[in-house]
Amino acid sequence: MWKYVIFFSTASIFVCHAKTLSNVDKVERPEELESEGTFESDMKLTLEQRTQIEKQIEAQTNRLETRKAHADLSTRWEDGIVPYRIEPESAGDTDVILSAIEHWESKTSLRFPQYNADEHTSFISFTKQDGCWSYVGHVFTGAQEISIGNGCAYMGTIAHEIGHAIGFFHEQSRPDRDEYVVINEENIIPGYERNFQKYDTGTINTYQVPYDIGSLMHYGATYFTSNGLNTIDAVNPDDQGLMGQRTGLSAADILLANTMYASPGGSYYFCFQH
Ligand SMILES: [Zn+2]
Repeated sequence: MWKYVIFFSTASIFVCHAKTLSNVDKVERPEELESEGTFESDMKLTLEQRTQIEKQIEAQTNRLETRKAHADLSTRWEDGIVPYRIEPESAGDTDVILSAIEHWESKTSLRFPQYNADEHTSFISFTKQDGCWSYVGHVFTGAQEISIGNGCAYMGTIAHEIGHAIGFFHEQSRPDRDEYVVINEENIIPGYERNFQKYDTGTINTYQVPYDIGSLMHYGATYFTSNGLNTIDAVNPDDQGLMGQRTGLSAADILLANTMYASPGGSYYFCFQH
């Protein structure tokens, strides 16, 4: 009983603490706010993607051998063209959404034309729902939602969500992340450990782009902290301040986007062995 009370109290404190931090610190880490149905805080997955990832996590956790076959989980937008539409509820965020789109267009080969039903069969649909989130890759025909909820309307945050929509997962999920960062599990809010999952070699295709702790897709050092201490530390202390930037695409992000969209077929990152 005593244990239960402590656990319950502790959990309550953690939950309150997390909400307080999120409210205070929205500018730095708005996509940390979890929404219903999201995975790793701000990614929505199709059932197939989620099933594949959970199988892979289970195999990794239990050190099971996986059979070698590949499934591409994050499909690309054809010819690097990502039509978009800003829904009426997001009209107030038009300027900042357009600045994020312009950022992507100025740095990469991807193009984001305004959706036109005569020309396009699919598009990303900017909407204002609970939190900031996106699907990963091009996974739906027709409208594919990307939510810029309350507290999310910053250029860098929207550019991060567009990163998911074009097929990026989080940088610290890469199989080689342990060479660059240390995850401090003891500081993670209980129940949120899965947000720090690493995918194994053979699962993630990084297109040989080096790990970038300063990626727009990297978590910040205190994401999901239960106690204010770092959940992620850089192996090289000089890199500590680079984590979690939401200023814009890093050189490695740009290289990765241009490489994955220049390569024929398939998709970024997830080539599952199953
Ligand atoms: Zn994200």
